[in-house]
Amino acid sequence: MELSVIIPCYEEHECLPLLFDRVTETLGSAGLSYELVFVNDGSKDQTWQLIDEFARSGRASRVVGVDFSRNFGKEAALLAGLSHATGEVVGIMDADLQQEPQTLLAMYGELMAHPEADCVAAYQSARHEGTLKALLKGAFYRVFKGITQGTSGMIAGASDFRVFRRCVAEALLSMPEYHRFSKGLFAWVGFETIPFAYEPSPRAAGTTKWSLRKLMSYAIEGIFAFSTAPLKLATLVGALSSLAAVIYFFVVVWEAFATDRVPSGYPTIVCLILLLGGLTLLTLGIIGEYVARIYLEGKRRPAYIAKRVITAEGHEVTQTG
Ligand code: UDP
Ligand code: MG
Repeated sequence: MELSVIIPCYEEHECLPLLFDRVTETLGSAGLSYELVFVNDGSKDQTWQLIDEFARSGRASRVVGVDFSRNFGKEAALLAGLSHATGEVVGIMDADLQQEPQTLLAMYGELMAHPEADCVAAYQSARHEGTLKALLKGAFYRVFKGITQGTSGMIAGASDFRVFRRCVAEALLSMPEYHRFSKGLFAWVGFETIPFAYEPSPRAAGTTKWSLRKLMSYAIEGIFAFSTAPLKLATLVGALSSLAAVIYFFVVVWEAFATDRVPSGYPTIVCLILLLGGLTLLTLGIIGEYVARIYLEGKRRPAYIAKRVITAEGHEVTQTG
C-alpha cells in the first residue's frame, strides 16, 4: 500500500458522497495503490451507512471504516485512523472538501520528490475568516511557540492537512497521551517538514463544528499540554508581589518615623486583600489545571472506543485505543 488517507467525519453525510467520488477519481487516475480510512466520530446522521457502502462498493483499492461509540473529537479520530493506516505514506484530510484531493496528491508528489523530508504540511496562504479569529490565531502561534518546549519547528497556520512517512506515523502512535493536541504533537516529534501553501475551498456542505469558544478552549488545551510556562508565570507573579510587599513595608516604616504623614490604612488593606486573594486563586486555578490533567491521564482511559471496524475484506471487530 503506497498511500493511506485518514478522513475524520463528524456528521458529514452531505459531503461524503462527493468527497468519495473526488478522492477515488483523483487518486485512481494517479495510478497509486491507496486506502481510505474513514473514522466516524459518533455522528447521528447517515455518515456510517455511507462509509459502510463505500467499503462494499469496491471503488477504492481498500476502505477501512472505524465507528466510534460516541463523539470523541477529531484528535481521537486521527489517532484511530493512524492505528489502522497501513500505507508507506499516510495523509490526513477533512471530510468537507475544504482541502482538495488534488492538493493532497500534489503534497504526496512533493514528498516523493524530496527523499530527505518526512512530512509535507499544508498551511493556509489566505484565511477566509473574520479578522478576530485570524488575529487570535496569529497571536496563539506566537505565544505557543514562545512558551512551549520542543515545538520551534511548528509552522504557523499549518493544520493537520498533511502527508507523512510511516516513521512519523509510528512516532505519533508512540505518544499515548489522552489529551492530544496534534498541531503540537506534529511539531514535537520533529522530522524534516516541508511547508506547502494552499488555499482552502469553501465547505462543500454543512457547517463548521468549531465555534470561537471551542477554538479558545482548544488553544488553552494546547498550551497546558505542551508548556509549564503558566506555572512559572504564577511563581513570577508571586515573587513580584512579595517584592512589592517588602518595599511597601519599608515605605510605611519610613513614613511613620521620618515624616508626620500617617499611612492610610483601610483602603490599602482592602486593595491588597483583593489583589493577593485574586492572585492566590488564579495560581491555584493554574495548578488545578495541571493536577486535573495528571488525574485524567492517570486514569489511562482509551482515547476512543470503537463499536466496530470494517474493512473491504469484511472484518468486523470492536476496538479501543
Ligand atoms: N470532526 C470530527 N470530530 C469532531 C469535529 C469535527 O471528526 O468532533 C471532523 C469533521 O468531520 C471534519 C474535520 O474534523 O472532517 C474538520 O472539521 P470542520 O470542517 O468542522 O472544521 P474546520 O474546517 O472549520 O476547521
Ligand atoms: Mg472544515
